[in-house]
Amino acid sequence: MPDKPFLPFALPDIGEEEIAEVVDTLRSGWITTGPKARRFEEDFTAFLGDPGLHSLAVNSATAGLHLALEALGIGPGDEVITTTHTFTATAEVVRYLGADVKLVDIDPGTMCIDVQALRAAITPRTKAVMPVHYAGLAADMQPLLALAKEHGLKVVEDAAHALPTTCAGRLVGTLASDATVFSFYANKTITTGEGGMVVTRDPALAQRMRVMRLHGMSRDAFDRFTATVPSWYYEIVAPGFKYNLTDIAAALGLHQLKRARAFQQRREALALQYDEGVAGLPVITPPRPREGDLHAWHLYVLRLADGARIGRDALIEHLYAAGIGCSVHYIPLHLQPYWRDRYALRREAFPHSQRAFDTMLSLPLYTRMSDADVQRVVGALRAALG
Ligand SMILES: *Cc1c(COP(=O)(O)O)cnc(C)c1O
Repeated sequence: MPDKPFLPFALPDIGEEEIAEVVDTLRSGWITTGPKARRFEEDFTAFLGDPGLHSLAVNSATAGLHLALEALGIGPGDEVITTTHTFTATAEVVRYLGADVKLVDIDPGTMCIDVQALRAAITPRTKAVMPVHYAGLAADMQPLLALAKEHGLKVVEDAAHALPTTCAGRLVGTLASDATVFSFYANKTITTGEGGMVVTRDPALAQRMRVMRLHGMSRDAFDRFTATVPSWYYEIVAPGFKYNLTDIAAALGLHQLKRARAFQQRREALALQYDEGVAGLPVITPPRPREGDLHAWHLYVLRLADGARIGRDALIEHLYAAGIGCSVHYIPLHLQPYWRDRYALRREAFPHSQRAFDTMLSLPLYTRMSDADVQRVVGALRAALG
């Protein structure tokens, strides 16, 4: 048995201000979507630093991705391209709308979508592309956006890992895509327990998503119960969804967002300590951002190099035996029964994602980790691999 307490893979960092804000919400008489969700949206736009953006708080990133594709008119007969090296949420929303998913391989240099593979996958049915900023490192957005423009494709960024991330000096969320979606799930870089934010520059898209976020209603509840005109009247203009974020969750988000920069700095410092600690071992450290760019460091994904004396599965068992939690992000979609069978996918078609999957693991990385925690993980890695 390990002599130290178990070091979990992830832990949220909830401070006293978050707790006080939640309690204030509970006492306020307004617990669902209301003033705090609105303020969270305003603060989010201010955080991104571009007043031309519309930020819409939603109850998950999955909901935000669904809303964005719906508002862009994706439907049966359409194809949407994304990477196999992601969580199923990125792709499942395409199927919600009856459209088809086309999965492509990653660039092993970024672990994000390979823009050449994307180019080769475009057909006359292709309507949109969904890059994923894997682990918190920006996908290669400049050629991707140029390619999308050339072919008239919509771009929805899955930025679930990417707060804050920059691409050529610009924050993800402010790039020239149609919509960008962030996640505030419990283990993401900031959290509301469950939650997300969808950001767009297009006012018509924002309006459609706002309506579809709440049952296809022309006015939301807060609007109706605080307006001076009669509160009972609304119109249903579409069969919408139930994707609004509660004020209880937004209360957490208001303070988490204030800490996002400090969180990123701490995660980056921990990642650098891992890089230094594993030097000389038969491993491939995570790709680094370009000079001057920010990596959100949602994940620290280590890959075993040729010549490592044990495999990935044995390494994970060794770490667990040493009381250290870790994970794998992700089992690529081309290996998952639904996606594999639905589109008759073969692993040979995704050599880079497959190779990464076979050799990778995600180490614990979160702001409440101490330097000593990192050294403990490094020690266990050196014992297993050195
Ligand atoms: C977490 C995650 C999502 C889904 O986020 P939710 O807020 O849980 O819906 C989507 N894509 C990726 C890449 C994720 O990691």
